[in-house]
Amino acid sequence: MMVRRGFFQLGFCAVLLLASLAPTDLTAQTAGKSAPAAEPQLAAPQVPAEPQLAEPQRAQQSYSLPPDKLAKAIALSRIRNILEIAGSIWGLVVLWLLLASRAAAGLEAWAKRMAARRWVQGILFFAAVILIGKLADLPLGLIGHYEGLKYGISVQSWASWLGDEGKALGLALVIYTAVLLLFNWIVRLWPRRYWLGLWVATVPLLVLTIFISPLVEPLFNQFEPLAKNHAGLVAQLEKVVTRTGTNIPPERMFLMKAGLKTNGLNAYVTGVGATKRIVVWDTTASRIPDDEVLFIFGHESGHYVLHHIPKLIAGMAAGLFFVYWACAGFANWLVGRLGASWKVSEISSRSGFVVLLFVVSVAGFVLEPVSNGFSRHFEHQADVYGQEAVHGIVADPQKTAVAAFNDLGEAWLEDPNPSPLIEFWLFNHPSTKRRAEFAAHYDPWANGGRGEFFGK
Ligand SMILES: [Zn+2]
Repeated sequence: MMVRRGFFQLGFCAVLLLASLAPTDLTAQTAGKSAPAAEPQLAAPQVPAEPQLAEPQRAQQSYSLPPDKLAKAIALSRIRNILEIAGSIWGLVVLWLLLASRAAAGLEAWAKRMAARRWVQGILFFAAVILIGKLADLPLGLIGHYEGLKYGISVQSWASWLGDEGKALGLALVIYTAVLLLFNWIVRLWPRRYWLGLWVATVPLLVLTIFISPLVEPLFNQFEPLAKNHAGLVAQLEKVVTRTGTNIPPERMFLMKAGLKTNGLNAYVTGVGATKRIVVWDTTASRIPDDEVLFIFGHESGHYVLHHIPKLIAGMAAGLFFVYWACAGFANWLVGRLGASWKVSEISSRSGFVVLLFVVSVAGFVLEPVSNGFSRHFEHQADVYGQEAVHGIVADPQKTAVAAFNDLGEAWLEDPNPSPLIEFWLFNHPSTKRRAEFAAHYDPWANGGRGEFFGK
């Protein structure tokens, strides 16, 4: 929840982070939002190209915006997409420059001069790399926040925003330094098969990160039991809980005071085991009709019931096995080829680890459409589940779902007609238009049929 997409969402810790910072949320894309929810998964996306609609047809789309908001949404979407792509590429450039300018080698020598103990040298080296990465990320972050304020998505003061950045930096320094130190140690321990060791270490770390993520989030946002100020809503939600047969007690429903920072709407599931919970933003709970919140809750329940978080962990673990293996080969080749000019002697050195970070970041960038394809699949499943979950509880599930997508899209200023290529590469949710159009036509109960997930 707390860190933007950027430098440190690439690389090893990135992989961990992606998972932890990625509660399976309902709304779509990122930049300019305070709480992007990249959902890392892996799979082949199927996004048929769609013809652009001519102006007069737009009004008949299931998701549409009034003309003034449409213009803003198109402009803001362009900015978001540029920031996201630029952020990924910039992260790679920074790592490459660290190597090519021999700054990484210089930092390694500096750390050796500063401390006698190896692990202290490691802490100094990785803390410096993390700090550089964070500073390099700052300009794009500033632009993102500026645009968020300009378009009225964000209402967070600059002081508060900078405070969050500071906290995120502090956390990154503590957590990533420790993780990088551990990973670097594994590489030294098994110089030939280190990728396997890294993989073995990554899997429990993934679970741990998702487990502690709900415990870290209160550093950035205020949470309270949803029942505290929305008892009526909780009573309504209980109906969905009963229908879904999920045992989500009110103690696992939280309200996040997002309205202090954003005008966006969202809800998400997060945590695993004892920390598993459903979080509804206060903006969502108070600004749209309860029926729509029920649908959103149904969608989130879908993630919960269909075990999307454990599946996500399993999918990532399986994918990372091959990614790490391939990255190790590529990193070794790079060190052999360019190590001398970078003053990087071997992968197991500190600066050698930066080569590994670079290679994994390249893999993360290239595989983004794959993981987004998986994510879109899960999100679509949750949409179907949500609509079925409110059947018999709200008067018209189709209309309710379409209205919810329109409210979400308008709150975030989502472009009603994103380019198929952008959707394929960057979207971890199907576009709002696609979701609304599916919802408008999804009626399995017509002619006595039944839903995919419910017997009636
Ligand atoms: Zn979702």
